[in-house]
Amino acid sequence: MGVDVILDGKALAREVRSRVKEKSLLFAERAGRRPLLRVVLVGEDPASIVYVRNKKSACDEAGIDCLDTILPGNVDTNAVATLVDDLNCDDKVDGILVQMPLPPQIDAARITEMIDPAKDVDGFTPWNVGLLSTGRASLLPCTPRGILTLLKHYSIETRGRNICVVGRSSIVGRPLANLLLASTDATVDVCNSHTRDLKAHVLQADIVVSAAGCPGLIRADMVREGTVVVDVGINRIPDPSRKSGYRLVGDCDFEALKGKAAAITPVPGGIGPMTVASLVENVLIAASIRAGVDIGAL
Ligand code: NDP
Repeated sequence: MGVDVILDGKALAREVRSRVKEKSLLFAERAGRRPLLRVVLVGEDPASIVYVRNKKSACDEAGIDCLDTILPGNVDTNAVATLVDDLNCDDKVDGILVQMPLPPQIDAARITEMIDPAKDVDGFTPWNVGLLSTGRASLLPCTPRGILTLLKHYSIETRGRNICVVGRSSIVGRPLANLLLASTDATVDVCNSHTRDLKAHVLQADIVVSAAGCPGLIRADMVREGTVVVDVGINRIPDPSRKSGYRLVGDCDFEALKGKAAAITPVPGGIGPMTVASLVENVLIAASIRAGVDIGAL
């Protein structure tokens, strides 16, 4: 297939951010302002704080302004809704991102549904989900966008190939399947936790994308020689040798698969950075559409 064995999402994400930066400068010249992302964080979930910090620093590198608002963890749905409403109405705001998960007392679906689709840089509103399923979306969900960008960058053929997506969540598996159906000529197979013989499905795949959140789920005996393995999973496993007491692994047995797969994404350093890079692309796309400023193709 002629691809590198390790699909370096970290390096590619850096390239994407620097391409976005050039275009952001062009946008700023033509629109008279920089693109603006507003992030809403409710509570102090440590993982969410890290994700928001990473998103802010990616925006910074890409020439995009990013402001966050942190609400106390005990607020109700109406408090978040009021803030989202204000951001919807604020013409200077190009993108709105409500960091998930929200505390359990908040109606997350209601909050997602009320975000202005033109500012929906996560691509989670029903309007954008509908556009995605008809192949007409501009704001694609970030992880699926990042996966497609990576496959294209490494010239991984999708036409006529079998792609097995493991996981059907509304943030990864399902939108990825829709995006693949809309923008490639692959045959797409979507598995879930009730799939009867996962190994049989994965063995059929030329490309397997695992987004299950189960360490060790995809073993070397489940893939054919030459399969491309995309590991979306981010799982913490105990590691007493680390100061933190844990390390991050994906869903796939990386060491065993490395010698068998044609190409594989590492965790960390694979789809995680591509997801954040896709967010900054989405903010710039939202800004250029909203402002009616032509910045050319990204
Ligand atoms: P969810 O828990 O929402 O969904 C997991 C999906 O995997 C479900 O559809 C579930 O099936 C399926 N699944 C679970 N176990 C199995 C199994 N044994 N065999 C087949 N399918 C299975 O998770 P998310 O989609 O939110 O995230 C998935 C993983 O990806 C997590 O590790 C998360 O941290 C990571 N992630 C990484 C991102 C990145 O940027 N790299 C971005 C987002 C998530 P069912 O529907 O039947 O329950």
